[in-house]
Amino acid sequence: PGQAAWAQKKKPAPAPTAASPADVERRVAALLAQMTLEEKVGQLNQYSGREVTGPASDRKNTLLASIRAGQVGSMLNVKGVKDTREIQAEALKSRLKIPLLFSLDVIHGYQTTFPIPLGEAASWDLDAIRLGAHVAAREAAASGIHWTFAPMVDVGRDPRWGRVMEGAGEDTYLGAQIAKARVLGFQGSTLGGTDAVMACAKHFAAYGAALAGRDYNAVDMSEQQLWEIYLPPFKAAADAGVATFMNSFNTLNGIPATGNAYLQRDILKGQWQYPGFVVSDWGSIGEMANWGYATDKADAAQKALTAGSDMDMESDAYHKNLEQLVTNGKVKIDLVDDAVRRILRKKFELGLFDDAYRFSDEKREKQVLNDPQNRAAARQMARKSLVLLKNENATLPLANTLRRIAVIGPLAKARRDLNGSWTVDTDTTRITSLYDGLRQRAGKTTELRYAKGCEVSGESRAGFEQAVATAQSADLIILTVGESWDMSGEAKSRTDIHLPGVQEELFKVLKATGKPVAVVVFGGRPLIFDAIAEQADAILYAWWPGSEGGTALADVLYGDYNPAGKLPITFPRSVGQIPIAYNQQYNTGRPITRPSDIRYKSAYIDSPNTPRYAFGYGLSYTTFKYSDLKIGRPQMQAGELVQVSFTLTNTGKTAGEEVAQLYLRDPVASVVRPLKELKDFRKISLKPGESKTVTFTIDKEKLAFYNAKLEWQAEPGKFNLMVGSASDDIRLDGTLELLP
Ligand code: BGC
Repeated sequence: PGQAAWAQKKKPAPAPTAASPADVERRVAALLAQMTLEEKVGQLNQYSGREVTGPASDRKNTLLASIRAGQVGSMLNVKGVKDTREIQAEALKSRLKIPLLFSLDVIHGYQTTFPIPLGEAASWDLDAIRLGAHVAAREAAASGIHWTFAPMVDVGRDPRWGRVMEGAGEDTYLGAQIAKARVLGFQGSTLGGTDAVMACAKHFAAYGAALAGRDYNAVDMSEQQLWEIYLPPFKAAADAGVATFMNSFNTLNGIPATGNAYLQRDILKGQWQYPGFVVSDWGSIGEMANWGYATDKADAAQKALTAGSDMDMESDAYHKNLEQLVTNGKVKIDLVDDAVRRILRKKFELGLFDDAYRFSDEKREKQVLNDPQNRAAARQMARKSLVLLKNENATLPLANTLRRIAVIGPLAKARRDLNGSWTVDTDTTRITSLYDGLRQRAGKTTELRYAKGCEVSGESRAGFEQAVATAQSADLIILTVGESWDMSGEAKSRTDIHLPGVQEELFKVLKATGKPVAVVVFGGRPLIFDAIAEQADAILYAWWPGSEGGTALADVLYGDYNPAGKLPITFPRSVGQIPIAYNQQYNTGRPITRPSDIRYKSAYIDSPNTPRYAFGYGLSYTTFKYSDLKIGRPQMQAGELVQVSFTLTNTGKTAGEEVAQLYLRDPVASVVRPLKELKDFRKISLKPGESKTVTFTIDKEKLAFYNAKLEWQAEPGKFNLMVGSASDDIRLDGTLELLP
């Protein structure tokens, strides 16, 4: 609801630059013609500016001198109007006065911290996600930033990989929709507005498929997997106009992504005709020597530029070697010119040549950063990100009549942890803890009693006794457990994704009191918690919900907001089940559904095949009925559209939202297809007793896949259509035939 009001209240942003594409092209060409080789190479270098704004040092002097000499095209990690202004002034002392691009990892908020991207994805709410990115961009842009290294659009199917927290989960279709929403949210529809930043689709490509879930590791995959699962979110970002791409640390089938001409030249700049530029990942050009793909940084520079990496983040490989590589004839000047043009174009489109300080207004910075609407949007997004995994005996929502609640656990009063990894804001006083959120919401007649119980990690049970004593005097226990903020994120791969430390033991001793226990779990990835899953009365998965996390949690725990989040990633029962994404399930030659006396099944002897919580799963305080599936017609020709509709009814007593999901299976095909693939979804809001007709449209695209020749094709024959509330909770099904 708040979104329309938000848009109305907001002051109009200064108009985008008027520059037409032809104008930009003319000005780029004119500038390029004046540039020396050194100045051209200068545009291709990006350095981190932590030192440049710090106390005097050799590094600082060198960097500032390089900037004045026109040897730097962009800085990362310099922020705030004051600092960016100061450094921009140095760039304007260079011969051609080419302004710098200021870039930063604005991943889930700038000052106002939104839920981590995986949490936002659990909302399945594209408008809210777009608004979240817009708020982040507006704050960052008011603070001197031109460019964010987001969205991360890597499909993340392995919860051991710590960076699943930064993405949209395991599904390609959902991931592509979210990629588009985030790009439009960050950038607006055209570049140049001062309440927007350039976005960056990263990490191109297949970074999420690192072997064994170990960050930065090699990737080996079939072309079909690459095209069908990993590339579409990048294509969606490109189609939405994303200004930049970032390549990646991993190899793909033996070739580092950074030096991968197939990815960057053939696919991105060739087949997709992508007009933006590609930045390397941090030091990834230099790292090609570590991989054993280049002899040294000079060789790496040659390979990276030739393969289509336009800007060198932090390797210093272009700066040190590219002029010589061109002079020796090892790198064609045309390739350098092309890279420079791509970068200059963005500087013109952002209007920086007309006013290098467009994003540098201290008054606006203050106003925008303190706009209360930003926090309202973060609270709304946080509510939408929460996933109710279990709710026995209507434990939740909390009754206003409860006299005493025991709030227990290592994360109950945590602030920093709620923001998760990749946060810009360091002021933890801006974060509302769960305890504070509950305190504000609970009436005067409800007493809250707190005990920590244990730490997130570590073996000490010393706090158990007090936790139990606190619980014994309460009507209900809210236990908060999870990962700390630094246990997921970059370089945070884990082989064991159980709830860390003795937190599950703490749960067991509390459960033994006989009091109802509602558990709130924080984390940046799917976690495993067997006893809690089996014995808790209620479980609310909170991800890392951001600075409004505590308020949003209180909203949901008290039922002021009815939870509607759905898991964007499968929660396994054990690490041994991985890979276990929902669309990695097949009807194997030895079917898994045969009676148990058949020995040779595709199954484990020590675990079910099914996950703990399936993709798309999430409960509500109300219930929904799916009925009356109508498939417009039983057969379709390739060019036709078929409407699939059904009735969704809120059969409970509370208003609520449901994410209805459409899955499809091609049961016989020239390439074996998974049991289910998400093809569409709709988030529907219903009052108690209300019914709505929901309609999906099937076209040939939804039936298509990459065949063995890598052609994107729909094969004639029958298709199973499934509509449901989760990937393992299909309520309606039917068939549709594609005619030859
Ligand atoms: C990460 C990128 C990030 C960059 C700049 C790298 O280590 O992989 O995602 O944008 O650092 O901070």
